[in-house]
Formats: sequence, C-alpha cells, structure tokens
Amino acid sequence: MMLLGVFLISFILSSYTGNVNAFTIPKNAHHSLTGNIQRQISAFSKTNYDESLFSSSFSTSTITYSRASTSRYSVALDSESNSKNSKPKSSYDVIVVGSGIGGLTTAAMLSYYNYSVAVLESHYLVGGCAHGFTTTQKIDDEKCEFRFDTGPSFFSGLNPNIPAKSSNPLRTVLDIIGEEVECIPYTSFGLCFPEGDFIHTPNFGKDGGVLDQLQSQKNGQSHPNNLEAKQEWERLLENMKPLAKAVDAMPTAALRADLGALLTTASFLPNFAKLNPLDTMKLTTPFQSILNQSSLKTPFLQNWMDLLCFCLSGLPASGTITAEMAMMMGEFYDASAVMDCPKGGANAIVDALVRGIIKQGGEVFTKSHVEEIMIENGKAVGIRLKKDPTNVIKANKAVVSNLSVWDMFSKKQSDTPILDPKHFPSKFLEERSITPMGKSFMHLHIGFRATLEELSKLQAHYIYIKDWERGIETEDNVALLSIPSVHDQTLAPEGYAVLHIYTPATEDYAKWEPFKHDRSSQKYQSLKKERSQFLFNVLDEIFPDDFNLQDRIVTCEIGTPLTHERFLRRYKGSYGPAIQAGVGSFPFPSTPIENLLLCGDSCFPGIGVPAVAGSGLLAAHSVSFDSIGGQLKVLEKLKESV
Ligand SMILES: Cc1cc2nc3c(=O)[nH]c(=O)nc-3n(C[C@H](O)[C@H](O)[C@H](O)COP(=O)(O)OP(=O)(O)OC[C@H]3O[C@@H](n4cnc5c(N)ncnc54)[C@H](O)[C@@H]3O)c2cc1C
Repeated sequence: MMLLGVFLISFILSSYTGNVNAFTIPKNAHHSLTGNIQRQISAFSKTNYDESLFSSSFSTSTITYSRASTSRYSVALDSESNSKNSKPKSSYDVIVVGSGIGGLTTAAMLSYYNYSVAVLESHYLVGGCAHGFTTTQKIDDEKCEFRFDTGPSFFSGLNPNIPAKSSNPLRTVLDIIGEEVECIPYTSFGLCFPEGDFIHTPNFGKDGGVLDQLQSQKNGQSHPNNLEAKQEWERLLENMKPLAKAVDAMPTAALRADLGALLTTASFLPNFAKLNPLDTMKLTTPFQSILNQSSLKTPFLQNWMDLLCFCLSGLPASGTITAEMAMMMGEFYDASAVMDCPKGGANAIVDALVRGIIKQGGEVFTKSHVEEIMIENGKAVGIRLKKDPTNVIKANKAVVSNLSVWDMFSKKQSDTPILDPKHFPSKFLEERSITPMGKSFMHLHIGFRATLEELSKLQAHYIYIKDWERGIETEDNVALLSIPSVHDQTLAPEGYAVLHIYTPATEDYAKWEPFKHDRSSQKYQSLKKERSQFLFNVLDEIFPDDFNLQDRIVTCEIGTPLTHERFLRRYKGSYGPAIQAGVGSFPFPSTPIENLLLCGDSCFPGIGVPAVAGSGLLAAHSVSFDSIGGQLKVLEKLKESV
C-alpha cells in the first residue's frame, strides 16, 4: 500500500524535477467542443453589458460596491489603490499576477506564512471570473442597485456552520486564514429537460426523487425502467464511495511541487493502506469508465451524468476526470448534502480572501496590468506594469501567475505574450501552446420585479437542455440559470430580484472576433440580439406562463464572448483548458524557469472555484522550502478539524 503513496509522491516530484511531459498535453490532445421577452428587451438595448460596465468602470467603481456590506474590503482596496497606497513597493517576496480565486488563495496562504506579497490585478475589480458587478437603475425616481455575479454561482462546503471536508481546498484556505463566508444553505434546484421539469435533491434515486418524478411525468404510466434505473443509480453511488475516500486520502494542502512533499505528504500515506489501490488509480481515469463499470444503461442517467460533467469541466463524462466527479457526487448526493448560496454573491468569497491577505500585511492592487514578467539568468526576478513600464517591481522569491496557459505561453505573433519565449525550451512552449481551449459564453444579467412569495415558488438554479440528441456541447441547446435572489434578498431592492443565465462554454469565439475593436457597430449589436435569443427563449420556458417575466424586467445586460474576454480578462473568452481525462492532464505549478510558478484553472487540478483554490494552495507551498514548517503546522490543524 505504501508503494501507492510512493507512486503518488514520485508523480508529484516528476513535475519538480523537470519531467514536464508527465503533466502536459500530448500533441494529439485537441478536443473540439464541439420571444417575447426579446421584444421587451430592445427597450433596454442602451444598457447593454459592454457599454454600461465600461462606463461604470472609470467613474463609479468605488461607488458601485458601496451597497453590499460584504464588499467593504473591495471599497477599501479600491480607494487605497487610488490614494495613499496606490503604488506598489519596489520589491516583495512574492508577486502574484492576477486576482482570480487561484491568485487570491495563493496570496492569502503566502501572507499567512508571513511572506511579503502583492497581488497585481489588471481589472478595476478583484476576483476574475468570480467578481461581482452592480448596475444602477432609476425606478420611480429612486436609484436602485442590482448586484450580479459574472460567473460561478454553484458552491458547496463553504458554510462555516457545517464541518469542513478536506477535499474542498477553498474551505481549507478559508479555515486556515480564519475567514468566513456567510452562506444560505439549500438543497434543491430545477431541471428542465426534454422529458419534463424536475426538482433535483440529494434524494435523486430515492422516494420522490428525480427518478420517481420522471416516472410520474410519463402521464402517470409506469416507467418500465424505473426500478432498473434506481438500481443502476444505487450501484453508481456505491461505486463512488471508495473513490470519494481516495480523494480525501491526500488533501491538496499536503501537496507541494518540491522535495518537501516527502515530509508534508508522509502522515497521510497510511490513509492509502485502508484503500484498494485500484480505486486510487481510477481517480485519474475518465468518469465514463466508472459509469460503464456501474453498468449505467438508462439513457436518462447517462445523459444526466454527461450534462453534470459538462457543467463542471466543459467536457462530457468521457473527458471529465473521475477525481472531480468523486468530489462533486459527494456534495450532491450524500444524505447530508447541502449547497451554499454565499450572501452577497460569489464576490463574498473574493472579499473573504482579500480580507485574509490584507490583515496579514499583503497588498492587492487593481488597475495594475502586468505587461511583462522579467526573467534574468533563467530566474523570474520581477514584473513591469503597463502603466509604469520603466519601473521593475522585484520579486525576491517568486512570481506566481494566475493567467491562462495561452496568455503565458502563446507563440502567436498577434498576441502580446507576457513572457519572452526565448527563455523557454521550445518543446515546453510547443506543448503548452497546443492546450485545447474550451469555448465561450453568452450571458444575460436581468433585474426584474418579483415579490418574496413569487420568488419562493422558484428554484435558485435551473439546468436546461432542449434536445439530448443534439448533444450537450452544441450551440443553443444547454443553458444554466441562476436566480440567487430566491435565497439572498441583499442583491436587489425590495420587490425586485436578479438572475444570470448563460450558455455553458458552447459559444464560438470566432464569430465574435471580427468585432473585437468594433463593439459599437450595428453588426455587433445585431449579432448580440440574434445570439441572445436562445437565452430569452429558455427564460420563457422556465418561468411560469402567468409570471410574465417580460413585463417585469427593469434592467437587462447581454454579455458576449467579447464581454467575457474583456471584463474577465479571459483569453478568447474561454471557459478554460478542455483537457480530456485519459488523454492529457493539468500541469503542476512549476515551470522550467526558476521562481516562476503558476496557479489558476490552467493548472492542476483544473477548472472550478474549489479546484483553482487547490492550485493556489499548491503554488503557495511550492514557492520555497521556507514554508515547510508552516505547512506541517497547518496540516496538523487540518487533521484535527476534519
Ligand atoms: C459563467 C461561469 C460560471 C461558472 N460557474 C461555476 C460554478 O458555479 N462553480 C464553480 O466552482 N466554478 C464555476 N466556474 C468556473 C470558475 O469560476 C473558474 O474556474 C475560476 O473562477 C477561475 O479562476 P482562476 O483563478 O483560474 O482565474 P480567473 O478568474 O480567470 O482570474 C485571472 C485574473 O487575472 C487577471 N489578469 C489577466 N491578465 C492579467 C495581467 N496581465 N496583469 C494582471 N492581471 C491579469 C484577470 O483580470 C483575472 O482577474 C464558472 C465560470 C464561468 C465563466
């Protein structure tokens, strides 16, 4: 059994010792991802997403945050970065480029270990994909604010009132730095499928669960495969149990990409003795192999698993890594499973991490676009900001980049790489630059009139698919709707609510690229209208007919892949790397350049808020051997608390 642990550690160390192939993408790894409300919306076309956010960025960025109490650190941060503390110092131990959840968790951990740290964020708001934004609308002569998430809204394991699981790296970081995110727990969401509408709960295959609802949807007729489907489902859950234990056996907090891993992982190795080595091996296989092993034959179940995988990784079950699903299935289907609605939106998580950084003396600077990471004699030594190009800010121990693999290593002439490619082995650049890219998004952010009673009849989330036959990866077939106001009344004025609906990584960037520098053109506006129609239609289908959503909309903003690229600084508006399990794997944080590390969703363990927090833990622990003592103490505490 110990051999397995040794295998794990050698797996970890191979990245450190320069065997980058173990963690990069093989050359053949390309993956091709493959109404009436609208009438009302034209009235709001002036407040389209691009322009309204743009204008708020330079005039009212501090004011837009003033309403939500959870954002006070962002306000402090913004005003600091515009006043006394507006200039970073001349040197830090570590400079973190980018303030996505990956960058913030890296910085929070390093600050906790007493490194001097600066986070440099290009945008005027922190949080990357997880940042929130506010729009102001005049209603009855009063200025009303509507607060939206730009990206993630499905969370679990964050509620400070519920014991932590070591498999959730974000919760691990929050607990270590002593910060909490107030969460409203809930257990259900809606599924709008071709078979009918269902309420999803952890009881999925049990009495009253989705499989029972499916049976009664068939006009009360007995669904011939219902019993069989329930048995298949139970078999799958049974097969997932040892895999969930295998995920828990080695917390991300114990990993590091240097030889110190021999020390920090040692006390967790006995956990492997209790496991079947084959189960541990299965964690890196495509989740489809677990579905096959569970003899899942019912099309409804296979479809649902594919869709759930797609929502998580941007790939169906055949491309999604089992480890990710082992964690997700536990969070959805354990008897005690609850989901978390962070009060104040996803930005509450961002704020908690920023608080953790600042209280330990770390600094976070917005509007600080890093133009170049400086490399001298094979070492990363600092950065240059776009706004102050002659000044080098030194990093004495490391530069950690939260940027995507394409922003870092793209070799295309038209791009402006942040690193000079001459410092890198061409094989490394070649391998990284062919990383398959997930597609982009169409978004609608809508503020609408709704009473509390009306909201109580809605779910906070809906997953919609029009036609299974067309496939989950095709355009205009899948949509995710989030109505956080169902649980959180702080996001909109009394009597109003907010929603965010989007197509999950199915929108092709190519058709938008010609408008990158021409967003005010009529053609771009027409394309926006045309490509958002699907989402308006989905809203029409999901909301009850007598709700008349179209008559209640007070603010509506349409986001395109260009919006996504611009405001989330995502390369080509991409969801992230579409690395297929079994074909490639997400790389560890080290690079061929000494003192240059990576974090975020282009790194192990991959896409998703908890995952990028895991990458942040790993990057922070890989900065230098100095952190080993601190990490061992953290692990002791972790063992006591889980
Ligand atoms: C619509 C949507 C819905 C999602 N839903 C969920 C969900 O429900 N649950 C979940 O767990 N995950 C979800 N995800 C995925 C999750 O949000 C992301 O995987 C994660 O937030 C990415 O974090 P990151 O740290 O990799 O980087 P990012 O969030 O991409 O942050 C990178 C940061 O770097 C900054 N930056 C870029 N270039 C520079 C530069 N040169 N200088 C300085 N700064 C720079 C950017 O401005 C940005 O702030 C969703 C994502 C999207 C887009």
